[in-house]
Amino acid sequence: MDSESQLTSSPKLILCVEDEKRILENNRKVFSDSGFNVLTAENLKEARAHLADYEPDAIVLDIMLPDGLGLDLLRELREGGSKIPVIMLTAWGEPDDIARGLDAGANDYLSKPFEYSVLLSRVKAMFRNVEQLPEILNLGGLQLKLMSREALIAGEPLGLSPKEYDLLQFFVQNRDRSMSAAYVYEAVWGQPMTGDAQALRSAVSRLRKKLQGSGYTITSEYGGGYRFERG
Ligand code: CA
Repeated sequence: MDSESQLTSSPKLILCVEDEKRILENNRKVFSDSGFNVLTAENLKEARAHLADYEPDAIVLDIMLPDGLGLDLLRELREGGSKIPVIMLTAWGEPDDIARGLDAGANDYLSKPFEYSVLLSRVKAMFRNVEQLPEILNLGGLQLKLMSREALIAGEPLGLSPKEYDLLQFFVQNRDRSMSAAYVYEAVWGQPMTGDAQALRSAVSRLRKKLQGSGYTITSEYGGGYRFERG
């Protein structure tokens, strides 16, 4: 299996639990329009029935439901060892609900009324946080060991500094993509570039030398950007 196929996955299944029909329908639509599979439940009983039959990849959980509290379902899940990412939907101005929900193991929350696009972004962010990267990325002769943060060509360590490794991993994960210097700097250094491109230029230059023989290179793009690609 190549690294490309390790990074793609089948459609994720979202369970939306909500008793307000209009919100439930909008939740369902925003996820299904984005290619997710969706289960809906209007109360705890229906939610539990779905959970007996399916293993959703995430739950969008309303707190106040006709037959009880979403928090109770959340506690049951966590007590049963489930790590399904859960985002709670709380009524506006209920800080106690938010605190109780996070204490009970919710990964995130949104207060009603909310923008459906924000709900979608938050759920995608939860997936990014829980998704396990493969331990090793193989790109032909170039190999990245993500746990030990090592890069090797044909089994030989490249001897990268920690920052060079961070930069290389970022390039590998964004390969074949044109990126501005400022974008790369901000992602790898964790702060705005503020005009000092020298650190990035130096690191790229060192990486280029160390990548010789790997089958990959960092191409300079018109306007000062970079692209990591075969070459
Ligand atoms: Ca409700």
